[in-house]
Amino acid sequence: MAALTPTQLDLLVTKLKEEYQILLREVRGELENSGNQHRIDLLNNEPGDSGDESMAVALADFNLTILDRHIDAIRDIEAALKRVKDGGYGVCTDCGVDIAFPRLQAYPTAKRCIACQEKREGNFAHEGHPKM
Ligand SMILES: [Zn+2]
Repeated sequence: MAALTPTQLDLLVTKLKEEYQILLREVRGELENSGNQHRIDLLNNEPGDSGDESMAVALADFNLTILDRHIDAIRDIEAALKRVKDGGYGVCTDCGVDIAFPRLQAYPTAKRCIACQEKREGNFAHEGHPKM
């Protein structure tokens, strides 16, 4: 488990769920525009309420390219909430260090610490990084 206090974790989970709701509202709007009203009931779930069923997977069935960006974001949030449940939230998936709280505040869905993220993006922030 990351070095987050229960209060910090609570705050981040709240943030994730808020973002999730905002995304769902936008998706709902898109679906209304595209004539998929009858499937909007699907979107009235809270994250985690539907057990194993992923909202991202359900939405992918709509096959609307306009939703792709939203689906990616929703998938990220679902993955983050799953990590909260599994106890892996806030730990870098690449190197295993605790991700700093300010970074999680800015990017609640962050999977990597800043060092690993920069490495991934090809921006070497530190000179003399050991070569593997
Ligand atoms: Zn890392």
